[in-house]
Amino acid sequence: MLYESTRGKIHSFSAPKAIKLGMAPDGGLFVPAEPVQITKQQLNSLVGVSYQEKAFYILNLFLTDFTAAQLKESITRAYHQKNFPGPKIAPVKKLNAELYLLELWHGPTAAFKDFALQILPYLLRHAVAKTGADKKIAILVATSGDTGKAALEGFKDVEGTKIIVFYPVEGVSKIQELQMVTQEGSNVQVVAVRGNFDQTQRGVKEIFRESPYLLPKITYCFSSANSINWGRLVPQIVYYFSAYLDLQKQGEIAPSEEINFVVPTGNFGNILAAFYARQMGLPIRKLICATNQNNVLTDFIRTGFYDCNRIFYQTISPSMDILVASNLERLLYEVTGHEAVKVEKWMTDLQEKGCFRVDEEVLEKIKAIFWSDFAADEETLTTIRDTYRQYNYILDPHTAVGKNVHAKYLSQTGDTIKTVLVSTASPFKFCPHVVKAILGEKATQNKSAFELLDVLARATSLEIPPGLKNLPQKAVRHTLVIDPAGMKQTVINSLTS
Ligand SMILES: *Cc1c(COP(=O)(O)O)cnc(C)c1O
Repeated sequence: MLYESTRGKIHSFSAPKAIKLGMAPDGGLFVPAEPVQITKQQLNSLVGVSYQEKAFYILNLFLTDFTAAQLKESITRAYHQKNFPGPKIAPVKKLNAELYLLELWHGPTAAFKDFALQILPYLLRHAVAKTGADKKIAILVATSGDTGKAALEGFKDVEGTKIIVFYPVEGVSKIQELQMVTQEGSNVQVVAVRGNFDQTQRGVKEIFRESPYLLPKITYCFSSANSINWGRLVPQIVYYFSAYLDLQKQGEIAPSEEINFVVPTGNFGNILAAFYARQMGLPIRKLICATNQNNVLTDFIRTGFYDCNRIFYQTISPSMDILVASNLERLLYEVTGHEAVKVEKWMTDLQEKGCFRVDEEVLEKIKAIFWSDFAADEETLTTIRDTYRQYNYILDPHTAVGKNVHAKYLSQTGDTIKTVLVSTASPFKFCPHVVKAILGEKATQNKSAFELLDVLARATSLEIPPGLKNLPQKAVRHTLVIDPAGMKQTVINSLTS
């Protein structure tokens, strides 16, 4: 399988090369040159096999220039019991007759990003060895909260790499911030940016674009741990298969029965992985794109007009506070049948005017696959409370956005086929809002985020995830705060020191 850029100027790159580069040199994103397909028989042969075996099967279809041994080693080192404690790597819980939850937060940082970022460092190391780079790799990350920590955990002390994480200073939760600024490791740097996620992401993309000219003295090549890197997306395809196959194994669905997925969405990475799973032949009817008040994607999926010229809201689901959803570019490339010229035009419009409009034909194709709505913060809190009362199940705010949007989908379409809601984070990660939702505002007063971890654990008899438990005792190691304009210089300083 070869990879090409969504902007049409780069073709025939191997998977290791695409992963090593992170972003295509023409400013586009790497995508597989041809669709990958799987037959019903192949799908059925995966019922009942382990998560690791499913991962190998899927990764092997896309990452053909890695050896089987390299893929297996990477998979074994990422998805093991110590990293993902509990009986299953990606458990599916039944909420009611039509709705299931795919819990993707049993990894080290308690959010779904671990699925990709635990394995990416190993894939990248093999990629570098294969493509014969003599340089070290600098991983640049812009994070809305969860990617940063997951990438730091994945790359800390990985030989031959340095990782620099930028996060918007006011755009992440207290616990997310502490997870990052207490990060240990000899090759890590964490920097707060006075701005929002979009500004932070733009800064990183600019550094990528300018890197060939920027840094003659630097002995590093750049790569990305954001979902612009194809190496982030492939591992995410696996859990859509895993969820489907588990439901089939448990007799909840018949072979080949269609189901829906609801995905709480920000940068469009997670739901794009679901799109690829569907394209491969996984029986998915609709992908329900759930957004928060930053509902630019909802408007787009309904109207075909993508418009960032709007107020940016800070919501209680901060990892979805994004207006420029990078991975939409990949979807546009796929639904136009790889028309790079069109994609380039839309992306140029987006950059220059902050908006673009796709044609009717493209919109119809998108609507045939996707449905979208959003939830405002008040609705999200109510959903957390009601779900707790009705099912004794605690949703984090991102997943609650998805639950709320699913209810809207049901009432507007009457489509009651079995649906899997992708649960993207542990409720503990956002516990002030969760405690407020289930115990009332008063329960949160005069309490730090950490005291609230205990409050939530006691109220629900759930266990605090290991990675969050000892945070208050950890020393703060990263204190640098900069303006967006200073990102480039920070990177230069860091890599030349
Ligand atoms: C990153 C994240 C999202 C959004 O995922 P995208 O791939 O950016 O669409 C949703 N919820 C949580 C908890 C996240 O960390």
